[in-house]
Amino acid sequence: MVTLDFAVSKVLECAKAAMPTETVPLWNSLGRILAVDITSDINMPPFNKSAVDGYACRKDDLEYSLKVIEVIPAGQMPQKEVESGTCSKIMTGAPVPLGADCVIMVEEVEEVGNETIHFTGKFKKSNIAKFAEDVKIGDMVLGKGTLIEPQHIAILAAVGINQVVVAQQPKVSILITGDELVEVDAKPVNSQIRNSNGHQLYAQVVRAGAIPNYGGIVDDTEEATRNAISNALAQSDVVVLTGGVSMGDFDFVPNVLKSLDVDIKFQTIAVQPGKPTLFGVKGNKFVFGLPGNPVSSLFQFDLLVRTAILAMMGANKPSKSIVKIPLASDFSRKRSERLALAPAKFNSKGEVDFLDYHGSAHIFSLAQAQAMIIIPVGVNSLSKGDLVDVRPL
Ligand code: AMP
Ligand code: MG
Repeated sequence: MVTLDFAVSKVLECAKAAMPTETVPLWNSLGRILAVDITSDINMPPFNKSAVDGYACRKDDLEYSLKVIEVIPAGQMPQKEVESGTCSKIMTGAPVPLGADCVIMVEEVEEVGNETIHFTGKFKKSNIAKFAEDVKIGDMVLGKGTLIEPQHIAILAAVGINQVVVAQQPKVSILITGDELVEVDAKPVNSQIRNSNGHQLYAQVVRAGAIPNYGGIVDDTEEATRNAISNALAQSDVVVLTGGVSMGDFDFVPNVLKSLDVDIKFQTIAVQPGKPTLFGVKGNKFVFGLPGNPVSSLFQFDLLVRTAILAMMGANKPSKSIVKIPLASDFSRKRSERLALAPAKFNSKGEVDFLDYHGSAHIFSLAQAQAMIIIPVGVNSLSKGDLVDVRPL
């Protein structure tokens, strides 16, 4: 049995940035991993730019009435220089004319005659965004390994990157084991259970930025398990299985993997839920055997498989950040040999609270979950207000 930290490090050590790159249109780059550094081809702002709608003038002139000499819309160059006693009406985003060192806001100005204005406010700031104060030509604006979010797309667009070089997406096969399972469109009878993991894992693969391939429910026989895994290994970069990895009579996965020359790096983790979680490597392909219980498979995918997928694509931050947040209520447990993961939600006081949770089959508890609280090995009790490690889901 290994610790969760060991498991995550092992996955990171094995799943190096192995995916080749490809070029995608900026439109389709959301959620992809940038494969090159991006530098700016322009200065930002490209000129001294007005930050407000108002009048460009000289600070020293603010106590006088000023003659308006031109109107400068955004997208047009000023034609006249501002001299003492004059100003130019200017729109947000337009270049500030020569001679002006501030822009007074239209809301703080009154018209005092033909084309003449007077400042009624109190000077606070120049309202000019200075040439190149944000970014200079050649500055690196985004680094290789960035997970592209909308804010990064804005930057890419601003520096003229119409086609983005990103890592190719790993193909991830999902195999479900368990003879008790029926698919979503069937009504379970007797001892049957609906297969929720298939869809849940598919969604997590998509959200992690990889390409899912759903392989369906595999019969609980050694032969069917071997055929399914062997096909999945041939077709994909990562194989994710659920069920069949614990100690039951029909848990064939570990032996089948060994017979297929998959090098099993760990098979159990000192974590609850999710103890029977397996990770194996065959060449540049990875296999994850997740527990069948839905909460376990959801959490373990998020902790390990997502991390592997992002690492394979060269993400500079493959693991989610953990934050320290005060607990909203007391906590205690009898045994503390394993690290515990508990579904949690945030409250309006900036605290994190445990959700009602009956164990790893309690999928309904997850409906409200925003995060997991991580309780370390050896910790039996916590009090309201204690800072705990929280990992967003
Ligand atoms: P296992 O890991 O195969 O021992 O399964 C543990 C528990 O999870 C059993 O109660 C299974 O019925 C349940 N389970 C296994 N696979 C799934 C699945 N795909 N969807 C929902 N529940 C499952
Ligand atoms: Mg099973």
